[in-house]
Amino acid sequence: MQIYKVGGAVRDRLLGKPVTDIDWVVVGATTEEMLAKGFRPVGADFPVFLHPKSGEEFALARTERKSGRGYGGFTFHASPEVTLEEDLIRRDLTINAMAEDDQQNLTDPYHGQRDLEARLLRHVSPAFAEDPLRVMRVARFAARYSSLGFTVAPETMDLMRQLSESGELEALTAERSWKEISRALMEDQPQVFIEVLRECGALKVLMPEVDALFGVPQPEAHHPEIDTGVHTLSVLEQAAKHKQPLTVRWACLLHDLGKGLTPEEEWPRHIAHEHKGLKLIKAVNERFKAPKDCQELALLVGKYHTHGHRALELKPSTLLELLQSFDVYRRPQRFEEFIAACEMDARGRKGLEQRSYPQADYLRGAANAARTVAVQPLLEKGFKGPELGEAIKRERLKALKAYKEAASA
Ligand code: ATP
Ligand code: MG
Repeated sequence: MQIYKVGGAVRDRLLGKPVTDIDWVVVGATTEEMLAKGFRPVGADFPVFLHPKSGEEFALARTERKSGRGYGGFTFHASPEVTLEEDLIRRDLTINAMAEDDQQNLTDPYHGQRDLEARLLRHVSPAFAEDPLRVMRVARFAARYSSLGFTVAPETMDLMRQLSESGELEALTAERSWKEISRALMEDQPQVFIEVLRECGALKVLMPEVDALFGVPQPEAHHPEIDTGVHTLSVLEQAAKHKQPLTVRWACLLHDLGKGLTPEEEWPRHIAHEHKGLKLIKAVNERFKAPKDCQELALLVGKYHTHGHRALELKPSTLLELLQSFDVYRRPQRFEEFIAACEMDARGRKGLEQRSYPQADYLRGAANAARTVAVQPLLEKGFKGPELGEAIKRERLKALKAYKEAASA
């Protein structure tokens, strides 16, 4: 049997990027031989194995044929006769379809190296269209490598457009989609992921709520970029610049969905968009079965981001409601993430990227003030049950009044 490095490891070495995980392909071997060498099978009907020591993935060279809709609809054919070239041709992009032996000799039948130099994300063969997930993969690679100058080849964009129009994207499972979305959002240029999806028409299918934001104007005084879609992309860009976690990035993407529902007669104002957007955020959350922390933060940021911006003007009672809604006493981290998302929203506006955001420290201070209220003295005074709850609230309100006065003095 011959063993080759394939995919990302080869691509990233040639790009001079750090290689994190290595995928291997094995030519000329049978399942029985792999098992005899101690490799552990990954799935029952999938010719992929884990190395007994390193845990790296070793796949038998295989061909694939589409046999139905969605990802389940694939038949694999793995046998010792399948050649390296036959295995490489089923891969998505030419830059992902190169292999390397242990002497670093390159096998590159589909000109991945040429496309690396030309900075092009190009499909290997028309079979690209057989797996709709590839639309999202290409958009993700565009996000990852756009800072190196990579773009999607026009003929690949055409295929992605056809796939988006075909209805095939709807057959993707939430799990496969979320894996791509979450990885793409964690790239350095996550806004490019959304841009590419939009350009090929996939955004309209996957997240019509986000797609609808393009072309929707906002008041120029607060939003010099005017367009809500453009604003959303900038917020995402800022979130990546500031190395925000996935929860914050997800919340940034969805925070203004309500603006897509405003009747045109009301443009450029968006009264109550925070509240109107909640059902859309919920729908997107559920469509991709986003993890609970992402879902929660997106809803909270959707509902309260304008509170964040107006923090310094909020009445102590409103401030208290905000802190209670976040359960800031038990969930300090989540409130920090809310503050971060608000700040990204404020900076994701044309020409305002470097603005200061005093609301952030003000909100932190308010949370601290409310947190310093001690329960013990109230217990000692004999408060119990719901009355204790009310007493704590009163004390917190007092603390917030004092905080606000001190801050404005
Ligand atoms: P990363 O750095 O994100 O891991 P990668 O290119 O290694 O990038 P993997 O998802 O690890 O991506 O897949 C390894 C290789 O398998 C890819 O380079 C590609 O050749 C192939 N591949 C993976 N998923 C698909 C797919 N859906 N369609 C076609 N080829 C795929
Ligand atoms: Mg990989």
